[in-house]
Amino acid sequence: MITLALSKGRIFDDSLPLLTAAGIEVLDDPEKSRKLILATNRPDLRVVLVRATDVPTYVQHGGADLGVAGLDVLLEHGAEHSAGGAGGHAGLYRPLDLRIARCRMSVAAREDFDYASAVRQGSRIRVATKYTQTARQHFAAKGVHVDLIKLYGSMELAPLTGLADAIVDLVSTGSTLKANRLVEVERIMDISSRLVVNAAALKVKREPLRALIDAFERAVEGRG
Ligand code: ATP
Ligand code: MG
Repeated sequence: MITLALSKGRIFDDSLPLLTAAGIEVLDDPEKSRKLILATNRPDLRVVLVRATDVPTYVQHGGADLGVAGLDVLLEHGAEHSAGGAGGHAGLYRPLDLRIARCRMSVAAREDFDYASAVRQGSRIRVATKYTQTARQHFAAKGVHVDLIKLYGSMELAPLTGLADAIVDLVSTGSTLKANRLVEVERIMDISSRLVVNAAALKVKREPLRALIDAFERAVEGRG
């Protein structure tokens, strides 16, 4: 049995066309069913639904053989759980950019905030974010002292309430920032979702996993 970890919502929805192109049909609709384990048209393949941030954990520890996770989630996970630091992922093999759930990681602040002055070498800035590892690295590379405030959601509220000077968050259209009168002051990196595979499973279940990864790769290429 091969277990594929997906998260409900964007990742599941954007993975479906790739699964279809790879000849895989998921037999339950996660929006209608409460099941966490979904059967597919292939008796040897099942889908498990986990939180987006839990996908790397499932795959790393073998709860799933492979999974789909955002680069944002992988970078945070790698920084926290790598064996030897340096952003490695022990037990986690990352073979493929699926080019889905694309957005960018950016710094945003209030319109009246002077970001350029705040990030001059040696200065200090208060940043609220869910992505503390990525934010820490970004500001360290600029030589800026950063006071990080960890949040789990509604990041846009932080600069508006005075909790922080700026936020580091994902941006796609920018309409959420705009609605809250925030401006994107710096782009940190482009984000998309990646296929991650358990390294041990790749040895033990080599043939079927390789075939599946290849099918995904063809599906991604077929979509341009
Ligand atoms: P939840 O929203 O349930 O708290 P989550 O935010 O971790 O969980 P999603 O919102 O489904 O889960 O996001 C999953 C992944 O999709 C993120 O890790 C990121 O890679 C990508 N993503 C997030 N927001 C956007 C967006 N606005 N546009 C495109 N991709 C996005
Ligand atoms: Mg979300």
